[in-house]
Amino acid sequence: MRLSRAFLPTLKETPAEAQIASHRLMLRAGLVRQTSAGIYAWLPAGLRVLRKVEQIVREEQDRAGAQEILMPTIQPAELWRESGRYDDYGKEMLRIKDRHERDMLYGPTNEEMVTDIFKGFAKSYRDLPRNLYHIQWKFRDEVRPRFGVMRGREFLMKDAYSFDLTKEGAEHSYRQMFVAYLRTFARMGLKAIPMRADTGPIGGNLSHEFIILAETGESQVFVSQDLLDYDVLADTPDYLGDLSPIVNFWTSHYAATEEMHDEAAWAQVPEAKRVSARGIEVGHIFFFGTKYSAPLGLSVQGPDGKPVAPEMGSYGIGISRLVGAIIEASHDEAGIIWPDAVAPFSAAILNLKPGDAGCDALCEQLYAALSPEAVYDDREERAGVKFNDADLSGHPWQAVVGPRGAAAGRVELKRRATGERAELSLEDAVARIK
Ligand code: ATP
Ligand code: MG
Ligand code: MG
Ligand code: MG
Repeated sequence: MRLSRAFLPTLKETPAEAQIASHRLMLRAGLVRQTSAGIYAWLPAGLRVLRKVEQIVREEQDRAGAQEILMPTIQPAELWRESGRYDDYGKEMLRIKDRHERDMLYGPTNEEMVTDIFKGFAKSYRDLPRNLYHIQWKFRDEVRPRFGVMRGREFLMKDAYSFDLTKEGAEHSYRQMFVAYLRTFARMGLKAIPMRADTGPIGGNLSHEFIILAETGESQVFVSQDLLDYDVLADTPDYLGDLSPIVNFWTSHYAATEEMHDEAAWAQVPEAKRVSARGIEVGHIFFFGTKYSAPLGLSVQGPDGKPVAPEMGSYGIGISRLVGAIIEASHDEAGIIWPDAVAPFSAAILNLKPGDAGCDALCEQLYAALSPEAVYDDREERAGVKFNDADLSGHPWQAVVGPRGAAAGRVELKRRATGERAELSLEDAVARIK
């Protein structure tokens, strides 16, 4: 992307409506634009981040054995009447009438719909287990949309749904998602801690929220320092094998949201290790048994010939929220510091003197070698403006080309996160970035 032609509307002023760093930076770096309360358009650089986050989520879901589908955003009210949630859901649900006066809604989640779809296919226990997921826009008419994409009304979610014959099978499906989530967030450079979460009226303890610590988070959490010090396993585990050692490891230390906080258990944690902090919920996994399969009439023939209602779970990740959460976790005074895996571009090429034959030639070569993972700042702007914009935009690398360096075939490479600089040949600079 050449900045002289790009649609990358960076702002010098801090937008008054933005209360937290990620929101401010997303607007200033030209990643999104609000079109109405809690609803955002994604601009080119922001969309690249969103897509990268989405792709990491997709790859880890696939590895864990989930299969991607795509369900619609608009759903018929009947399904929600069958589960009893049409009235329960309240004002967060955006209700719509079509031209025939039929009640429709913009999906806030998809348990009913996926159960209904699966019902059309699953006949016997041999059709189990299955895990289906999709990555689709949701709408929740939040009372207080705020903090930019972190609490939007329209937002992008990955939601997976597992179907199992038995409770034990469902627990295995749950653990598959638990482990996949650890890997997913780690790949984005995030430390997301699984914390015991409220299961609502269904009870049981099979619900975890994945939470990253951040002062601006909306949840109060209590966690043992040990969990913050652990690294997530680097390799893909055998998802068909026994995953309980991994899950037990992560659940054997104290970590709970406010709703699940237990003072007696907390008191057992050594005082020096008690971290009570704010956190951002980036994912949530949930086992709920036959809560939807039973009322919606999903049943399969069991091995003994008798009908069985599959045991289900659902597993959400806030993909658009993650873009804000990553920035909350990784920024400084000057701007965003993108982790390599989700950066909109790996590098910014800064031509300090457009029109200088040497600078232009070297920059073009760099750009050709790094495209499409580079933005080329070829604008007629002062060097200071280019440095500021590059720091604000947060590309992991900045390749700076001035007349003196260009004459010697040298590029100054700066690492955004550390500020380290090195003078390198074009080849070495490209190799370092890639
Ligand atoms: P919250 O507690 O933040 O309202 P939730 O518990 O209502 O979230 P879930 O139903 O668990 O949300 O949805 C799965 C995931 O979707 C959440 O973990 C979160 O990452 C994301 N999410 C939920 N609501 C929003 C929103 N309004 N804007 C952006 N992402 C959201
Ligand atoms: Mg909510
Ligand atoms: Mg929540
Ligand atoms: Mg939740």
